[in-house]
Formats: sequence, structure tokens, C-alpha cells
Amino acid sequence: MEPSRADAIVLRRREFSESSWLIDFITPEWGCLKTIAKGARRPESRLRGRLELFNRGRIIFYPSRRSDLHLLSQFDVTRFASAPGATLETAAYFYYLAELLLAVGFGSEAGRDLFEIFDRELGDASGLGRITPARIRFEIDFLKVLGVFPPLAVCGECQGDTSDRLYFSPVSRSWICSRCRSGRAGAIFIQEGVRALVNHILEGGRKTSRPAMSASQEKILDRLCRLLVDINVGKKIRSLSFLQQVKEVEGGRGRGGK
Ligand SMILES: [Zn+2]
Repeated sequence: MEPSRADAIVLRRREFSESSWLIDFITPEWGCLKTIAKGARRPESRLRGRLELFNRGRIIFYPSRRSDLHLLSQFDVTRFASAPGATLETAAYFYYLAELLLAVGFGSEAGRDLFEIFDRELGDASGLGRITPARIRFEIDFLKVLGVFPPLAVCGECQGDTSDRLYFSPVSRSWICSRCRSGRAGAIFIQEGVRALVNHILEGGRKTSRPAMSASQEKILDRLCRLLVDINVGKKIRSLSFLQQVKEVEGGRGRGGK
């Protein structure tokens, strides 16, 4: 059987046996990829010490014909994930992103884009700044890459124009116009500045820098992203509550200094 090669980032590592790991990667060509690293836990294994979470490199593996579990042969690390000085919040953030990718990345046609947006965050781990704006940008990119970010210019109910006033309706899971808004319980008003920020992220492509946002814009975008990710990923992302706990703890520590 011919081996395959791919760029890859370690997304998840689980024990399989005393000597072996199960390793899930994200790759541009294959999306999420399940592999078994036989013997990788043995001291003499050439994979030992390489299969740490979020390491990036080049893998060689033997694709299985019978199942979706492939045999990992080599992993040449080109970037180690260990970022000195990384905070617990940054670590919790990356766990959350990995969980998002694992929730949608198997069999996804968006593998290349998912790999790129995750790689960008990891590569910039020390320059992320505040995590919440970074996460908001990632989530908008993520939903866009999956093709599920609802178009802003069109009302999801009447297909009319939304340029007058824009709302988000959790009920119809879309942006709605001011006409459709009346009588809609729970519709969220989207300020012009928030719309501009979303457009900036959507149109800017992968290389846009993180947009600055005010506290109130951040709050609305955070709520919108929560709704859209919950609706579209469709399962509870466990590490998000961990990320929020970490944020509260670190926020409490930083209070007084600001
Ligand atoms: Zn409408």
C-alpha cells in the first residue's frame, strides 16, 4: 500500500494501549484525519515527543481501505506548539477551537480553509491579545468557511432589503428586517457598527488583522456567535464552558489594574 503525505496539526490525542496513541489531525487535503500511532509511547519510537497537541508538521500515513482509522508512520514537526508565556486562557482557547474543528471537520470539504484559519491562530499565539475578540473573528471565519453564515444584506424571512435596520432572529436563525421584526420575540437589534465589523471580517479574508471593537459591540457579537455556532455545530462544545471559567478567573485577577 502506498503511503500518503499531508501537512497536519495535532488536534486530539488519546491513549489506545500502553504503547500506542490515537491521534486526530487536521489536514488541508483530508480535513480531520484519525490515525493510530503504533508504538509511539515506547521510549525508542521516532514519534515519541512529537505528538504533542497543536504541533504542526508533515505526516506520512498509510490510508486504511476498511475503516477511517489510518496508520501513522512519520511526523516531522515544523512548528512546536509550546509557546512560552502562553496563558491558561490561550490554552483553553485552542482546546475550544480544536473541539469545534473535530465537531465538523470529518468528511468536510472545507478542510483546507479550516486548516488555514486554525493554523493562523496557532501561528499567532503570542499576538492574540484579548481572547474574546480573537474568538469572535475565528467563529465568523469558521461559519463562513462552512458556508453557514447567513448573508447580512437579505432578510431571511421576506428576502427584503435590510439596509434600514438589521435584527437577528434566533427563531428563524437569520438576519431579519425591521418589517419582519415586529411581533418577533427575542429579535436582537444589530447596531450599524456591529454590522460593519461583521462585514469587515467576512470580506477581509484570512489576513485581516483583528478588528478593534467596543465593549458593547463585543457583547452583541459574542451573543450572535454563540447562537450561530450552537445552531450550526449542533452539539454542546464542552471546552467553551472551561474557556469561560478561565476567563472569569483571569478577569477577576486583572480587575483593579484596569
Ligand atoms: Zn423581512
